[in-house]
Amino acid sequence: MSCSIVPPYLLRQIASEPDARATDHCHRTLEIDERFRAGRRAPRAVAAADGGFTVHTADNGTDLPGRAVRASGEPASGDVAVDEAYAGLEASLAMYADVYAHNSWDGQGAHVLATVHYERNYDNAFWNGTQLVFGDGDGEVFDRFTKPVDVLAHELTHAVTESVAGLVYEGQSGALNESVSDVFGACLKQRVLGQGAAEADWVVGEGLFLPGVNGRGLRDMHNPGTAYDDPVLGKDPQGADMSAYVETTDDNGGVHLNSGIPNRAFVLAALAIGGTSAEGAGRIWWTALGTVAPDVDFAGFAAATVEAAGDHADAVRDAWAQVGVEVAQPAGDAAGGATADDVAAFGGRAGRGTSPESRDHSAEAAPTVVEVRRTGGFAGRTATGRCDLGGEGAHLDEVRALLSRVDLRPAKPARTYPDMYSYVIRVDDDEVTLAETQLTEDLRRLTALVLEQTPDDS
Ligand SMILES: [Zn+2]
Repeated sequence: MSCSIVPPYLLRQIASEPDARATDHCHRTLEIDERFRAGRRAPRAVAAADGGFTVHTADNGTDLPGRAVRASGEPASGDVAVDEAYAGLEASLAMYADVYAHNSWDGQGAHVLATVHYERNYDNAFWNGTQLVFGDGDGEVFDRFTKPVDVLAHELTHAVTESVAGLVYEGQSGALNESVSDVFGACLKQRVLGQGAAEADWVVGEGLFLPGVNGRGLRDMHNPGTAYDDPVLGKDPQGADMSAYVETTDDNGGVHLNSGIPNRAFVLAALAIGGTSAEGAGRIWWTALGTVAPDVDFAGFAAATVEAAGDHADAVRDAWAQVGVEVAQPAGDAAGGATADDVAAFGGRAGRGTSPESRDHSAEAAPTVVEVRRTGGFAGRTATGRCDLGGEGAHLDEVRALLSRVDLRPAKPARTYPDMYSYVIRVDDDEVTLAETQLTEDLRRLTALVLEQTPDDS
């Protein structure tokens, strides 16, 4: 009838839990109660640079970092998500220390903060510039984002990349930022499994899909575009070479789509070099990461890897050529150097899109339609929802109430962080693009309502 929403997977997701919102408070109370009954140690003081880490829980809220549950060196907590995050962080930090002689994400032993149980049914994980955050998944399509060990390494690597290279999270440097996280996520996964490059499956996020979803994981680094093909999810949209490069304003310039191209270059290099990915091609990518400018493009990054490859330069150059990235000059200016402006641009980019004037609701007709388009996120999927406001129903009443009081002008400047969502909100003819960090509680609720309506009898 009045509210419709795409993609269909969200319809299914919410239809399966029609009373979730109404019973939020009860669920939350029960869960908190259960955690206290399970026995929880008191939060531990966090040192600034002790090389350790602490896993927190948001208790399904959005306050970060939340309540400390398990610090490095402490025994298992009994909370599966906490203990998965612990294991993934421990292994990832060990890889950076043992293979790349890099102490924590900043190279200075910064204490790593991670939070699990973020929000409800949250299909995402991200690095917010300060800490790692993981959702529990929706329970139908996505399982816990702490479950695949490479997701932990992927998110920690976003912090590493920010510290080492400051790759601007947009366009080709943004796709490289994403790719570097997949690359070292794969290195970590293979290290945990004791695999060489030749034995690896190169699937990112294996185990993230719940049974019934036709997919091996979120991305296939060796064969981009083949990770899933599902009636509900659609087909893996990644391209495998430059002929499939996507120009778009979604997802900070398609960073989760175009990352498939450098991902495949890494796999081809790793297979050609042999041995383990972490110690073979991984060392070359690591060295290159430390030399490139924040706004480096694919060709510049490729040149940096060739320059860092030593005896493997031909293999690395050939790997990039196979994905359509030619490296004419292995040395020279291509890698460039960081400038102050480049550094300032990272994480400090101004919000895009138009900022509508403040709505004077008393003086104008009530809005008739609201649409939300969400892009980005670790999974790199797009979700859209639309509410026609002429109908009736409890959710429409709430949408109308929220619209009557929200101000769509950003209250603070946009800060874009790896794997966080980007939202386009349109109310009649007013449209605004907001980063996830710009959502107020009301806007967070509004976007969730518009994206996640029960289909009713439409
Ligand atoms: Zn990412």
